Amino acid sequence: MTMASKSDSTRDESDDEAADSTEPESALETARRQLYHAATHLDIDQNIVERLKHPKKVHEVTVPIERDDGTVEVFTGYRAQHDSVRGPYKGGLRYHPEVTRDECVGLGMWMTWKCAVMDLPFGGAKGGVAVNPKELSSAEKERLTRRFAQEIRGAIGPTVDIPAPDMGTNPQTMAWLMDAYSMQEGETIPGVVTGKPPVIGGSKGRDEAPGRSVAIIVREAIKHYEKDINEASVAIQGYGSVGSNAARLLDDWGANIVAVSDVNGGVYDTNGLDTHSIPSHHEEPEAVMGHNAPETVTNAELLELDVDVLVPAALGNVLTAENAEDVRADIIVEGANGPTTSEADRIFTERGIPVIPDILANAGGVTVSYFEWLQDINRRTWSLERVHDELEEEMLTAWDVVRDEFTDGEVTWRDAAYIVALSRIAEAHEARGLWP
Ligand code: GLU
Repeated sequence: MTMASKSDSTRDESDDEAADSTEPESALETARRQLYHAATHLDIDQNIVERLKHPKKVHEVTVPIERDDGTVEVFTGYRAQHDSVRGPYKGGLRYHPEVTRDECVGLGMWMTWKCAVMDLPFGGAKGGVAVNPKELSSAEKERLTRRFAQEIRGAIGPTVDIPAPDMGTNPQTMAWLMDAYSMQEGETIPGVVTGKPPVIGGSKGRDEAPGRSVAIIVREAIKHYEKDINEASVAIQGYGSVGSNAARLLDDWGANIVAVSDVNGGVYDTNGLDTHSIPSHHEEPEAVMGHNAPETVTNAELLELDVDVLVPAALGNVLTAENAEDVRADIIVEGANGPTTSEADRIFTERGIPVIPDILANAGGVTVSYFEWLQDINRRTWSLERVHDELEEEMLTAWDVVRDEFTDGEVTWRDAAYIVALSRIAEAHEARGLWP
């Protein structure tokens, strides 16, 4: 496989399709556009690109549960399994009202690239239930999770497809899922999910891993662009697991975290916030605005602050054609999955603002999931120090490979990460072939 050699036969559908779209882009549209775009930089068999456009399987299930008041409510759940050429499907489960089939497919594609860019022996999947978890009691969430686990039981397993937490789910959700699966199988099978509580086979350091990898990549990007971390200002949208952990680590490493936000808005201090004294979403939901700071900002304003590094670490599609011209950050590091639309990406490229993509920056989550899966299989626990050391090593290895691809050719950081990922996936498809 030749890297970074443009194939004439590959049409760049990303640019012309984006031009006339007025509707907000779905995760699947963005993921497909990114695939076509990256494929133009690679001498890749078009038949493989064609295969990668489609998920291998999408499971859609009905999840009825009894509400606490005795009524029955019916939800829809999905598990989209995109590609498994390099190993079992891997990816999160999301509880969110906007979960759709297409969103799961798009996010599942990103998981395929994310695992490949990190060189993990996994493919990509994503799933979830279209539900607002804030409207469910803990008992209702448990019933929903157990019933969903039962409905997708035939599609998952430690060597088949391994779910993990994502938006709206957490270690407790994974514990219920693991328990429901294990009860039905008649034996305890911790490796069926990752992101579990450590007491039942979860890995130390898994919760903070996506934020830690974002912090590592911000640190390396600052170095690459010859800035000093002690002088660098950073704005972070989102103060959940990714945003709060990234903010606190970067704060500890000397960066100036000038703004953070949650769903209600953000706090802003040009002298730097004390991130450890701002409760994360997990510690106290929606408490950011309660923190004493000289200024407050809306979530929209936060994205347009004049900072060295902007980290969108909340929702997808927040950087769009509408605000990309107004972004004043020197570097963007994607903490959330898919925060930048294709049109915004194009504007940032034109404006010379580097965007370090999600599939590299937040890949610490799935990387420590891989460590957890290894620990489960081997029935052997790693120390937190070992998890941190191995994550650091994996992130730096992936960063170096992507950076070499970036500096070798006329490509963006996203293209560079996709080139690395797609080359590995295409080589695996070529080696295995199409059968029957
Ligand atoms: N949901 C996380 C992600 O989007 C982690 C997936 C996993 O650990 O399998 O990367």
